[in-house]
Order: sequence, then C-alpha cells, then structure tokens
Amino acid sequence: MKLILLGAPGAGKGTVAKMLTALDGSVQISTGDILRGAVKAGTELGKQAQDYMNRGDLVPDELIMGIMGKRLQEPDCEQGFLLDGFPRTIPQAEALKDMLGELSITLDVAVNIDVPRDVILDRLTTRRTCSNSDCQEIYNVKTKAPKQEGVCDKCGSPVIQRDDETEEAISKRLDTYNEKTAPLVNFYEKEGMLLSVSAISSDDVIAAIKERLGS
Ligand code: ADP
Ligand code: ZN
Repeated sequence: MKLILLGAPGAGKGTVAKMLTALDGSVQISTGDILRGAVKAGTELGKQAQDYMNRGDLVPDELIMGIMGKRLQEPDCEQGFLLDGFPRTIPQAEALKDMLGELSITLDVAVNIDVPRDVILDRLTTRRTCSNSDCQEIYNVKTKAPKQEGVCDKCGSPVIQRDDETEEAISKRLDTYNEKTAPLVNFYEKEGMLLSVSAISSDDVIAAIKERLGS
C-alpha cells in the first residue's frame, strides 16, 4: 500500500505506520526518524536540522524534499510505503505530487488521524523514545513502559524523553501543526484522496484503513 499519514504530533502516525508495515511489507518512512538519525550521526543534514527541531519548528521544505526525493526512489519503496510525518506543509504536498507524477507512482489514500487535543497533550508529555537511531521504539510511562525502567526492550539502549518533548516545545509543535500542516486535510480532500478517522485506538485506525483499501 502507498499511504500518507496525517495527524498532529502524538496522533499515533508512527504506531499506525509500524502496524501497517507488518501487514504487507510496505516500508515506514518517517522524516522525523530520518532527521533524528542525522542529528545523532552529526551529518551535515543533522547540523542544518537540529535547531529547528529543538525549537519545535519545521525544518525548511528544501531540506525535506532533498531527503524524500532520494528516499522514494530506493528499491524497498516498490512494495509500498507509509509516509509518516511527510508532507507537513502545502509546498511539500505540491512537490510530492509532482515527484510522484514523475515516478509514475499512485497513492492509495491520505489518512487523517484525528485525536482530541487533551489526549494528544497527555500522550506527548508521557512519551519516551529509544535513543538508538536504528531502533527508535516508542514507549509511554503510563501505558507502555519498558520492562526495565529506562532501557529499550528491543535493543537495550537508553530510553529517553526527546529534546522536543518538553512542554514548551510540545505546545509550539501543536501550534505549528495547526498553522502549517492542518491545511493538508483540505488539500487531500480536494484531491479526492482523504480518509479521515476520528479514533483514539490505533486498532480502529487500522480497521478503517483496511476497509477503505478493501483488504
Ligand atoms: P511529531 O510528528 O511527533 O512532531 P516527528 O518525529 O514527525 O514528530 O518530527 C520531529 C521534528 O522533525 C518536527 O518537529 C520537525 O522539526 C522535523 N520534521 C519532521 N518531518 C518534517 C517535515 N516533513 N517537514 C519539516 N520538518 C519536519
Ligand atoms: Zn531500542
């Protein structure tokens, strides 16, 4: 399947994407994970992205399109892909549309995961992430704590609170979302590609996607 996952930070895009990869081998492509990996590795991209990310601002569109232009042409995308955290602005959505047209790729659907703001705030402040950039497993101190406190179940690396998951950065990310990313819901509605799901449980989101794809 070839999907875009839309939704505020904390809506569950990453969780849903991981569940979908298990269904048919489509790859999850998370621009947030790619950027955090680059920051940790200290690459040129990471250096350019780091300050924006820590402030809760978006990284410039040119940087993101540079990453995605290459990523979508890698062979593992042929089987299908789940775009998690991209596109995030109207210019990114326009550029993606052109890029997919050139590559003759057709998307199945853009899924908007709609979760109430209070649920989002609670989730983000309690979220923890594996610090290993190759793993990035997500935990939650209330609902999904690692078996051993502060240690990733999957890879044994420290589980940490992301730099952009302080209360101040979270509130900035939500404002940024409302201003820059929420308009994409309209964009994909006009494209006739939108599936909006109001659901707090990721299982319900998966069920709605399966129904839409007829699988
Ligand atoms: P969340 O969806 O929880 O905010 P992500 O992991 O998707 O977190 O992204 C973390 C940060 O990476 C964002 O706050 C932003 O700075 C940057 N980022 C990720 N994807 C994009 C994108 N498509 N365009 C611009 N910036 C991005
Ligand atoms: Zn891990």
